[in-house]
Amino acid sequence: MKKTRATIRTYRHGLGDCHLITLRGKGKAAYRILIDCGVILGTPDAKAVMTRVMDDVVKESKGKVDLLVATHEHWDHVSGFGQAAESFARLQVDKVWMAWTEDPDDEGARELAQSKGQALKLLQGAALHLQGFGDVQQTPLFLSLAEFFGAAGRVTTKSALEAVRAKALPGEPRYCRPEDPPVELAKYGARIYVLGPPRDVALLKRLNPKANTDEGYDHALGLFNADIKPLLEQGEADNQAPFAAMDGLAIADARKHGFFAQTYFDGPEWRRIDADWMLAADSLALALDNMTNNTSLVLAIELGGEDVLLFAADAQVGNWMSWPACHWEVGGKTVTGEDLMRRTTFYKVGHHGSHNATLKERGLELMDSLQTAVIPVDQEMAKTKKWGAMPLAPLVSALQKKTASKGFVVRTDRDLPPGANEAGIVSTPEYVEISV
Ligand SMILES: [Zn+2]
Repeated sequence: MKKTRATIRTYRHGLGDCHLITLRGKGKAAYRILIDCGVILGTPDAKAVMTRVMDDVVKESKGKVDLLVATHEHWDHVSGFGQAAESFARLQVDKVWMAWTEDPDDEGARELAQSKGQALKLLQGAALHLQGFGDVQQTPLFLSLAEFFGAAGRVTTKSALEAVRAKALPGEPRYCRPEDPPVELAKYGARIYVLGPPRDVALLKRLNPKANTDEGYDHALGLFNADIKPLLEQGEADNQAPFAAMDGLAIADARKHGFFAQTYFDGPEWRRIDADWMLAADSLALALDNMTNNTSLVLAIELGGEDVLLFAADAQVGNWMSWPACHWEVGGKTVTGEDLMRRTTFYKVGHHGSHNATLKERGLELMDSLQTAVIPVDQEMAKTKKWGAMPLAPLVSALQKKTASKGFVVRTDRDLPPGANEAGIVSTPEYVEISV
């Protein structure tokens, strides 16, 4: 039997990511990598859930991981570092990696933070404005997305990320850039490449595939409308009102005014635009959300100079587009991102299997060696959170086609597919584990 070179334990704790990877060396030597630890806001008993996950990480790793990776600043990837603080405190960490987009000393990262700050300000302005209506029928999407960046109790995405940073030794964390040489783990026959996020901030803002790349699965679904960019570029929430302030009347005042009360508030519904124009805020919130996904740190772990384990975090189109052209000099030879994608045997599916997080052309199309795809997802929760079709059925079929006769597509919210257990994939209520 072939020796196990690595095991990937992916937790089944809900809508969120937590992966413990163990690289096997000679004898009992083991190199442990923890990638993310979070669950979506609104998960019942989240603190208890994430504590159980972190306790298992501590137990399985014997209290020490060699490498801790926080892929991006989203609650469903980092919440556990705060929610399970006591268990996390028991985990010894050797190295900490984050994406260059988290580097406070990087100019591009600062530019991005500024864009995000501006967008958040706009959304806060929109939220305040909305309060003036008082009786809006349902919570707009952007408010539920805004909570994504916000707080649950005393833990925020920022504070959870700080908890990760606090584990770093002086001179760390390493802020990973795709142009960095791969990290050699000779003892384990492994090499870790950084594929993304791309250094080009314009690409990070790129959330849409080209219209003409849409073929099999629905790339076009949920594409963002044309007014996102102007929204991102404008600074003031006031500019988003349909009319200038001097032409306007406060909602509360208008209600008291006979003409407006009769004609609009008590009149037929079609005369009011209410908060409809705030659909733009929904688009902006989505864009902001996806831009943050695009800052995902993407790692390719090469085993024995052949097979590649690809961890795509929540990378969106702009991030994916940059991978094939990445290149490194290794032992006098050039290795390209395209090579690594072609040699990918294990793929941690991007963004819980959403529509715009697995590029088809120059993405999945390249992955001819793919054997196993793992989708960390909770379809019911995604529905509740209005995250759309997660996982997207055509993507699941595309992955099944790609892995057919070679392996399996494993979802964390479902039982293993037929034959997977016999093929050595382990599934417990807490996790799935794949050995390669
Ligand atoms: Zn996510």
